[in-house]
Amino acid sequence: MQQKTILGHPKGLFILFFTELWERFSYYGMRAILVLYLTAETTDKLNPGLGWSSTEALALYGWYGMMVYFMGIFGGAIADKWLGQKKSVIFGGILIIIGQFSLAVNNMAMFYTGLVFLICGVGLLKPNISTMVGGLYKKGDAKRDSGFTIFYIGINIGAVLAPLIVGYFGEKIDWHLGFSLAGFGMIIGQVVYVFGGKYLTGVGNLLKHSKEHAHLMKQPLTKIEKDRMTVMFISFLIVMVFWAAYEQAGGLMNLYARDKIDRFVFGFEIPTSFFQSLHALYVVILGAPMAYFWVQWRKKGKESSSIFKMGIASIIMSFGFVALMGAAYDVSINVLGKAPVYWLFLSYFLHVVAELSISPVALSFITKLAPLKYASLMMGTYFAVTGLGNKLAGLLGEAAQDAGEMAIFTGIAVFTFLLGLLIMLFVKKLKALTHGAEDVDPTVAFVEPE
Ligand code: GLN
Repeated sequence: MQQKTILGHPKGLFILFFTELWERFSYYGMRAILVLYLTAETTDKLNPGLGWSSTEALALYGWYGMMVYFMGIFGGAIADKWLGQKKSVIFGGILIIIGQFSLAVNNMAMFYTGLVFLICGVGLLKPNISTMVGGLYKKGDAKRDSGFTIFYIGINIGAVLAPLIVGYFGEKIDWHLGFSLAGFGMIIGQVVYVFGGKYLTGVGNLLKHSKEHAHLMKQPLTKIEKDRMTVMFISFLIVMVFWAAYEQAGGLMNLYARDKIDRFVFGFEIPTSFFQSLHALYVVILGAPMAYFWVQWRKKGKESSSIFKMGIASIIMSFGFVALMGAAYDVSINVLGKAPVYWLFLSYFLHVVAELSISPVALSFITKLAPLKYASLMMGTYFAVTGLGNKLAGLLGEAAQDAGEMAIFTGIAVFTFLLGLLIMLFVKKLKALTHGAEDVDPTVAFVEPE
């Protein structure tokens, strides 16, 4: 039976799309003002902050960024064992709302309580909503990858809007108003999710607790499942390196854009913070063309396994850092010590082409490969790995303070290039470990989820 679709995708995808759009609005909105709030003077009459030093603020930011994703392991495990993904998303959303409104209260105890709620809430929601996207598609359905790209575009619409809206009201009017707006964003997400529940009936439910099922759950993994776990863990390593490079944007590159890039274009100075939205903006613009490109590529019968795309992503990322080496070179020869802004536009463009070849691809890959009983746990582990990548990015940024940017950019460019090359060399071997999990079944045009 054909289910009603939008753009050829199940309607449920768009429920998850809007829920996650608002969750990310909430997440990135809060993130956009966190460091600013921490470092704002306590004596500021109009909008007082907490008066922390930059080092203290960046340290908290780093830990928060890591923990929020690290919690995904527990969020995934809870979904697999007790709640199922669908309910986990609801509980996660509620924790996030409580968290944001706790930050909205001007009190230190409430501030820390809020952070803990956010870490637990995102940990419960983020991996499980991602796994649910995969649940909308039948095994072998070629639409799965583009479904994840659409979902990913939703994420980034939230990420573009949040710094603009939450950032504006938080910074210019009241930090606590900003946190409240982030909370309202999550409320909208919850409403969409609850009212759209009818399009998600067969997705994200806890595997039934029958005796027969319990028996199934206790079986050791088969050889095929073990191989698939192995290739997933290898892909996680690529992912960690990728995010360690990419997330330079929030820390090191933010300062670099402020101090070493000539941001004047036609007499107008682009604000540094604009570059914090640039990645997400590029994703929204490039998401559809990139998905189209990969579909056409596959139709031509060319190599298009996820592992291959991840290898390509690593190489493109490397080119992104070669562009930054160009900037660092210009800084070194320019009398004012500044480089033209096009380097940054070019570099971020390449980062996003790489991102679209690895991030939604990895999400889809996990839903194809993970044994059913560990579906959410594997997704949670994936996010934990991205959290480690974030932390590594912070450490690399710190290292740049002594080693200099040119050394760090060159190091990242060389490393990601060699890693990409290595993956290309072993792509056939790695693909064999998936045991056909990515083969498209030509008879599956579109099938209603069970
Ligand atoms: N930017 C993406 C998001 O917010 C990916 C983040 C990640 O995988 N760590 O969902």
